Amino acid sequence: MNKITYPNINCDNLFSTCLLSVNNDNQDYKNRLGNIAENISTQWRCFDDRITPKSLHEFLPCLPRRVDQIIDGEVTKKDLKNLYTVYMLKINSEARKVYDKLRASSKGGLCPLCGIYGVETLDHYLPKARYPLFSVHPRNLIPACEHCNGAKSDNILKVASDQTLYPYNDDIKFYSTDWIKASITAQYGILVFDFHAAPPLQWLEVERKRVINHFTIFELRQKYVRNSSQFVSTITADIRRMLLDGDYIAVKNHYAGLVTAVKFNSTLRAMYHALSINDDICSGRF
Ligand SMILES: [Zn+2]
Repeated sequence: MNKITYPNINCDNLFSTCLLSVNNDNQDYKNRLGNIAENISTQWRCFDDRITPKSLHEFLPCLPRRVDQIIDGEVTKKDLKNLYTVYMLKINSEARKVYDKLRASSKGGLCPLCGIYGVETLDHYLPKARYPLFSVHPRNLIPACEHCNGAKSDNILKVASDQTLYPYNDDIKFYSTDWIKASITAQYGILVFDFHAAPPLQWLEVERKRVINHFTIFELRQKYVRNSSQFVSTITADIRRMLLDGDYIAVKNHYAGLVTAVKFNSTLRAMYHALSINDDICSGRF
């Protein structure tokens, strides 16, 4: 996971900017959406006010599936979803420039939700299918890989602990404390790593539940296991080589030293830590 900086974007204008992409022969659509601009602005301010106390779960979701459901005035859920999929994504439009700026806001281009794959799209923190008033709210749009975007689906937030990590400005401790741990087994002489969420016991229960929820929803266990496999042959060769010149203590110290060289909660950091405390593996007994 990576914390990212929210780009310098004027939120209030984006709704109107998206409407600029609508062709003149669709004036009815433009008018109907224009009529709810004031309420959109109010709802977006409310969203921004709920980011820091982490109370985004207090928004009521609309009904599932029914795309013709009226959300406000004469505007349907489908109208608001189209504002994103048709008009914000329109190539060469002003709204598309904002989309591209948000997508580029993750340093190094890594998905801030998993920290493994590259950013390919924007994920709606509150899914547009259930919270359509925020379909083009920039603060609701998180750069993400296709894997994380697809894994999240249209989950609604019922309680505070349902809120996954919010990379733009969540508590720094989620990104500067190790809460993803690895375990190792040897299967037919091959090292196999597994991963789990283990947030510190001193964190508030809601914080512990939030990171576990993040780990589960974005399928981080599966992603980390897949990612770890590329490092196994190098680690195995390194252990065998180090044991030719020293004992298992030297191997453990080697991995303990590597832990601090990589970022918190990364696949490698969890792997190095698990190695540094495993006498059997560091003794070459696998
Ligand atoms: Zn991802």
